[in-house]
Amino acid sequence: MQTVVTRKPRYTNNPLVQKIGQANLPRWAACNPRRAARDCAVAVARFPQTVAIGVNCTPPALLLKLIGELRAATDKPVVVYPNSGEEWDAANRCWTGDGNAASFGEQAAKWFGAGAQIVGGCCRTRPAHIQQVAEQACKQH
Ligand SMILES: [Zn+2]
Repeated sequence: MQTVVTRKPRYTNNPLVQKIGQANLPRWAACNPRRAARDCAVAVARFPQTVAIGVNCTPPALLLKLIGELRAATDKPVVVYPNSGEEWDAANRCWTGDGNAASFGEQAAKWFGAGAQIVGGCCRTRPAHIQQVAEQACKQH
């Protein structure tokens, strides 16, 4: 008999992931992109109650890569809700960078095209950002 050992995804034995598995409610799970999005997705996607997986509070520039990783890891719908694109400057205690809603919408079209089914907004997004996303979603269907 031969044994094949594959790398066990991180987070499988994480107490929070195990708690998620015990809750009998449909939900999506969004992982912090600073950790391995794929490993987190695999850990929570195995639960039948998990209806979607994704990432939140993420710079928009990272999303195409992360959506690709999530698409490769699961067949469940992918949900993303990134930041506006601005970054927190802790030294000067202010937000910097581009948080333009139209640009956010243009990027959302690419996120849909890459396989994201649910798109929203996290830090520094405003109703104008979500309106742009909604317009792109309507164009997709
Ligand atoms: Zn956030």
